Amino acid sequence: MTTDTARAAIRRLSPDTASRIAAGEVVERPLSALKEILENALDAGARRVEVRVERQLDHLFSVADDGVGIAPDELELALERHATSKIATLEDLDRLTTLGFRGEALPSIAAVSRMRVTSRVTGADAASTRLTAGGEVVERGPAARAPGTTVEVRDLFFNTPARRKFLHSPAGELRAAIRLVETYGLGYPEVSFRITVDERERLDWPAASGRGLAALRERAAMMWGASHAEQRLAVEDEKGGVRLIALLGLPEHARATREGQCFLVNRRLVQSPLLSQALRQAYGNLLPPGRFPSAALWLSIPPARLDVNVHPTKREVRFADEDTVFSLVAGACAQALAHIQPPFRVVSGGASEPEPRWTDRIREHPSEQTYLGLESPAPATDPGPTTTPPAATPVTAEPEMWQLHRTYILAPVRGGLVIVDQHAAHERILFEEALERLRGGRGAAQQLLFPALVDLAADQWELLLELGPWLEQLGWDLSMLGPPTVVIQGMPSGIASERPGQLLQDLIDGVAEDTARGAHEDMAERVARSFACHAATRAGDPLSGEEMRTLVDRLFATTRPHGDPHGRPTFVRLDLDELHRRFGRG
Ligand code: ADP
Ligand code: MG
Repeated sequence: MTTDTARAAIRRLSPDTASRIAAGEVVERPLSALKEILENALDAGARRVEVRVERQLDHLFSVADDGVGIAPDELELALERHATSKIATLEDLDRLTTLGFRGEALPSIAAVSRMRVTSRVTGADAASTRLTAGGEVVERGPAARAPGTTVEVRDLFFNTPARRKFLHSPAGELRAAIRLVETYGLGYPEVSFRITVDERERLDWPAASGRGLAALRERAAMMWGASHAEQRLAVEDEKGGVRLIALLGLPEHARATREGQCFLVNRRLVQSPLLSQALRQAYGNLLPPGRFPSAALWLSIPPARLDVNVHPTKREVRFADEDTVFSLVAGACAQALAHIQPPFRVVSGGASEPEPRWTDRIREHPSEQTYLGLESPAPATDPGPTTTPPAATPVTAEPEMWQLHRTYILAPVRGGLVIVDQHAAHERILFEEALERLRGGRGAAQQLLFPALVDLAADQWELLLELGPWLEQLGWDLSMLGPPTVVIQGMPSGIASERPGQLLQDLIDGVAEDTARGAHEDMAERVARSFACHAATRAGDPLSGEEMRTLVDRLFATTRPHGDPHGRPTFVRLDLDELHRRFGRG
C-alpha cells in the first residue's frame, strides 16, 4: 500500500449518488423503512393499518392505511427531499404532534428501492399512483382505491449492493418488524393493525374499545397474553407537566436483555438509557444483577420540553427536564413495586448466605450428577479427583485450591499459579460441548422430574419457532403448548439449573441479541454461545473444592482454554519467577 495520497479534485456528487448516500442515514435497514412508512400512516390519522410482507422485508412490503391521503398534485412533491406537510418552520417543532417532520423518509426509501405510492384523499372520486425506481418516477396515472394511502416498497437496496451485504437475517428482520407493529399498537390503541406474511396472518389487533389505561390494558393483553397482562402493575402519575402511565412486569417477567422494555414518549417509540436506568432503580433488589425489568412506559411531555431532532431515525429523544422525568419514573414505579417480596437473594460480597445451588442437586441425584454438571476430563473412563491430569493440563495433583470472592479460582500449576475466572471458564467448557452437540451427535437430555411450564413473550415465541431444531439437538425436550406457553420436559444433561424456564428464556434472548448485533457466524455458534453464557456458573456462586478442580481440569481440556466465547480471558498466569523476583529472591 502506498502512503502518499494523490490529491483529488473536489467535485459535487451527482444528485443520484448524494441521495443514495443520504438515504443510508434514514434507511439503515429494511426495518427502518417499514418504521417510517408506518409512522406516516399513523400521522395521517389512520384508524386501520395493514402491513403485507412477501417473503421478506427487502423483497416486498406494503402498508395500507385509511388516513387523510395525499392530493394528486402533491404526490410527487411528497417524494422530494425536505418536503413535508408537518412543519413549516423550526419553531413548529415546539408544537409537534406528529411522528414525522423531516420530509426525508419517502425520498430516501424511493432512492434505494422500487416504490409505489397510491393515494386518494377523503372526498376525491379517484386515487392516483406513482411508481419510482431508484428515486426516478417511471409511471404515473389514476388508480382505484378507497380513501387512504398504500405505499409498496419492492427490492429494497437493489441499487446499493454494499448495503445489502450488511443486512441482518431476513427471519430476524421479520420478527423485529412484527414487534415494531406490536409496539406501535401499544402506542395507538385506537388503531387496528393487521400483518400478513405470504398471505398468512401474523397479527390482527382490533381497535381497543376502552380509553386511557383501559385501552392500554386491552392492548397489553394482546401483546403479552391475558394472564401475563393481568399480573402487570399499573402506574399512573404526573410531575411538572409530565404524565406517566406504566405497566410493570413482575420480577419473574424480567429478561436477560432490555428486549422486554418499551418506551413511548408522546406516542413515539424511543430508546432511552435514562428511562432504563430509572426503571432499574425502581426495581432495586427485586432483581439480581444482570436482569432487566420488563415494562411498558407511556410518557406525555409538552412538545416544547422534548427534543425529537437528535437522531436521523428519530429513535432517541432528549428531555429538557431529565431530573423530573427520572424521578417521576423511578419514584412512581418504586411505589407500585413496594409491596412485592424479593424472590431472589442478591449476593453481595461474601456476607450473605450462599444459595444451596449445586450441592442440593448433588444430594438429589448422588449417582448420576457430577459436580457442576461437568463430566471429568478425557479420558472419561478415568474420573475422580485423584486422576492424573491429561498432558495439556498444567494442574498439579496438589489438593489445595482457593475460591477468591466467589469469582476466581486460584490453582497452583507447575512453575506458578493460575487465577481462573469461574464464569468465563465454565462458559468456554459449555460452549465447546454445546457446539459439538449442535454440529455432531445430538446431546443427551436429562428428563425433568416435573415438567416446567413457561410463558414466553411474543418475540421469544417467534424466535423459538425458528430455534426449535437447534435446541432439540442441544438436548432440550420442549413442547409448544400454544402461545405463550411452552412445556419443558427435559434439558441438556450436564447442567444444573433450578430454573429451566428462565434459562430457556435467557438463551432465546441471548440469541436474539447476538443476531441483532449482526454477528456473522452461523446459528449453531449463536445458540452455543448464548447457552454457555446463561447456563454457566456465575461470579458469586460458591463452589466446592471438588467442583473447582473439575472446572479447571475441564477448562484445560478444551481446544481454546485461554478465552471465553466472547473473547475475554479465562485465566491469568503468575510465574514463580515473577514471584521470586518480587520477593527479592531472584
Ligand atoms: P415526513 O413524514 O417527515 O413529513 P415523509 O417523507 O415521510 O416526510 O412524507 C412526506 C409527506 O408525504 C408527509 O409530510 C405527508 O404529507 C405525506 N405522506 C406520506 N405518507 C402519507 C400517508 N400514508 N398518508 C398521508 N400522507 C402521507
Ligand atoms: Mg414520515
